[in-house]
Amino acid sequence: MFAEVVFALPFRKAFTYEIPSELKKFVKEGVRVVAPFGKRTLTGFVVKISKTTQVKDEIKQIREVLDDEPIFNKTLLKFYEWIADYYLCSLGEALKLLVPQGTEVESKRKISIDKNFVQQLLQNENKKNTLRYKILQELSTREQITFSTLQKAVGKKNIYSHIRNLVEESAVTVIDEIEGAKVKPKKVKYVRLAKDVKELYSTLPELDRRSPKQVKLLLVLIEAKGKSLPAAELLHKTETSKAALDSLEKKGFVEIFEKEVDRRYKEHYEEVHQEFVLTEQQNKVIEEISPKIKDSVFQSYLLHGVTGSGKTQVYIELAKIALEQNKSVLILVPEISLTPQITSRFYNNFGDLVTVLHSRMSAGERFDSWRRIHKGKSRIVVGARSALFAPIFKLGLIVVDEEHDASYKQQDMIPKYNARDSAVVLGSIHNCPVVLGSATPSVESRYNAEIGKYKLLTLPLRIDDAKLPAITLVNVNAERRKGRMDNIFSRTLLDKIEDRLKKKEGVIILQNRRGFSTQIYCEDCGEIEMCENCSVPMVFHINKNIIQCHYCGLEKPVPNACTHCGSINIKYFGTGTERVEDELQFYFPNARISRIDSDSITRKSYLSNLLLSFGKGEIDILVGTQMVSKGLDFSRVTLVGVISAETTLWLPDFRADERTFQLLTQVAGRAGRSKIAGEVIIQTQNEKHFALQKVLQNDYDGFYRREIVDRERLGYPPFTRLALIETKDKSDQKAKGAAIDFRKALKKFESHLKISEPTTALIYKLKGFYRYHILIKSSRKSDPSGKFLRRAVIEAFTEFNRISRFKDVKLFYDIDPQSI
Ligand code: ADP
Ligand code: ZN
Ligand code: ZN
Repeated sequence: MFAEVVFALPFRKAFTYEIPSELKKFVKEGVRVVAPFGKRTLTGFVVKISKTTQVKDEIKQIREVLDDEPIFNKTLLKFYEWIADYYLCSLGEALKLLVPQGTEVESKRKISIDKNFVQQLLQNENKKNTLRYKILQELSTREQITFSTLQKAVGKKNIYSHIRNLVEESAVTVIDEIEGAKVKPKKVKYVRLAKDVKELYSTLPELDRRSPKQVKLLLVLIEAKGKSLPAAELLHKTETSKAALDSLEKKGFVEIFEKEVDRRYKEHYEEVHQEFVLTEQQNKVIEEISPKIKDSVFQSYLLHGVTGSGKTQVYIELAKIALEQNKSVLILVPEISLTPQITSRFYNNFGDLVTVLHSRMSAGERFDSWRRIHKGKSRIVVGARSALFAPIFKLGLIVVDEEHDASYKQQDMIPKYNARDSAVVLGSIHNCPVVLGSATPSVESRYNAEIGKYKLLTLPLRIDDAKLPAITLVNVNAERRKGRMDNIFSRTLLDKIEDRLKKKEGVIILQNRRGFSTQIYCEDCGEIEMCENCSVPMVFHINKNIIQCHYCGLEKPVPNACTHCGSINIKYFGTGTERVEDELQFYFPNARISRIDSDSITRKSYLSNLLLSFGKGEIDILVGTQMVSKGLDFSRVTLVGVISAETTLWLPDFRADERTFQLLTQVAGRAGRSKIAGEVIIQTQNEKHFALQKVLQNDYDGFYRREIVDRERLGYPPFTRLALIETKDKSDQKAKGAAIDFRKALKKFESHLKISEPTTALIYKLKGFYRYHILIKSSRKSDPSGKFLRRAVIEAFTEFNRISRFKDVKLFYDIDPQSI
């Protein structure tokens, strides 16, 4: 028997292995196996089993099987094949998305050291400044070291030739050591009675004289009426030692055994469960979608519902229908900030059937959630982007909430998938409806609804007839001329805040930048303090009293003088959330103000507690980045303020207007969600800008109609499909050379595709790497599925490898890039 195995490596093929007879029962399609690969040992995925093979070369054997049950079936495999094909990665790289991190088994190459011999060599070495000397120094103190640790220790890459020499001198050997999974099921010791209670009672008086502690233990167990108890808890409760328990076990009174425990992430945020009579518009939507769930029919829906129209309740009702049909449900939400409220509502309705997956969980909690889903114990999965890859075998419904949100796009890792678009494909493979919900649908999804690819459903009214908030644009330049600006605040906004504080109503203030000042500028030489690893300005953080790069995280002390010319005339520009918080506290010394941004919500329960307090009225003002625009549903919020609408408007991105419209409409939607009317003040320098005007008029359709015309005229999605090729290297020359060569390799496709010349990326230097981009556009009309575009990239890559001197430069493909 042979197994076809794929690995999470950039090889677009499966490798054949022999299944040793003792593993025959366990190797199935869909399990992970451990197998030798080149000089290493790796975890791979079995995609096929066959009785014969055409392979002529030596066939290696599988070493180990990691999963008792398949983790993917034919249906799921189809989905991962699609991911690999569409986002241009290998099937193994796609399947890696399916498994929890830290559960793979891999070998690490290590150097095993003959310590005494190395110490001798070190003494005989006369030149003390060489790399060899440094390496010997490192080796002389230990028995074993990994290549990467040694590399880091000596700060050099080219250690290999020296190690090769040392191997020849017999000072070291290179070994391949297999490292087991880092994340494992958690097992805890439990205790239960091993004897009949009556029988025990008769021995207790006798035992009590000699070992009263043992009796204490037994009594607690008797009280538990045959239930087992965790050993640690038992010992703690009775204040006894392990020895007492052990001797009870020896006497045969109790049994100690290991039990697997479920690590569950606990959310602090809880809402009171509410039952609703559905509104007519909610019912209409549910009536449309529920037959598709029952009959297992694929259909994508765009659910365009204004903020506060009760979309969440629609998802809950649909989920109930899927459960009745014995099917599972996948609910995708953007980022963590939204999760507490929506997950609490799902918990309230479905209890333990719900599993949350998100970035704040520990690796163990994630692993246990994953296993609950895999075993079918958790049938409702609520999670951010990566929850798309939860091991659900029988899906009845997929929801993508706030489908316009940019966080659905993976930006950093391979493959750079879009979870919203992939969710539609997943639904088509599972034959279930997919609901994309938003108050501000993405232009692409709205267009798909227009051409009939998605079906458009609407919830045009707010629940309880609540009115959408009244919006005012305040021109900060005009206000400043009238003397009606106090630093970053207009008098208009300050007056309204004061009014709400008096009435004890909630206020939300948006400033979409974190930190205090976003630019540090020298008045003498005109330079801006930049990050040394990235071509972006350093941001001043007053709370930590540092300057920080928001791209690589580099932190430095606040400079006393300009690093370029030494002048002490430094000015701070650009307002971040810390400054907004700081100034608000100055104007309203008695107000209780809290900040929500990625600096403040680092602690696990911080956000949940903060939202609880805000809901109860213990916090007056929430200041934050775009995080405060997402999904928050608090009836006491009656005022939303935006410090500057410009933070997103002037980004050099064809989606800048769309992003601005969405952000402002969403944050405005936090206000007036109950009987008391809401109000929104947006400070801006461009009140005439059409995106802002459309926010003001609450006119999504008007925004869409104008935007779609621009997209067509300028040749942007949805009228073209984009692919971005990125080259990345520590050497500017090499990154550029690779981009130029890749561009050459693309040349023969020029008649069908619009291909840009290589340009420096917007953030040209990032984390010490120089980056170049080539943008490829393919017209929807001539290449509707994008097949031609993807084939061109793959073929160009082969050609690039043939012609280029810069083959070792890192290349990334970004299909449907978010920002360009
Ligand atoms: P959206 O997600 O569309 O912005 P939500 O789902 O948060 O809106 O709903 C807004 C509020 O209305 C929530 O507090 C929700 O509990 C409540 N709600 C939803 N459906 C109903 C209903 N049928 N009757 C009364 N209240 C409802
Ligand atoms: Zn200077
Ligand atoms: Zn940086």
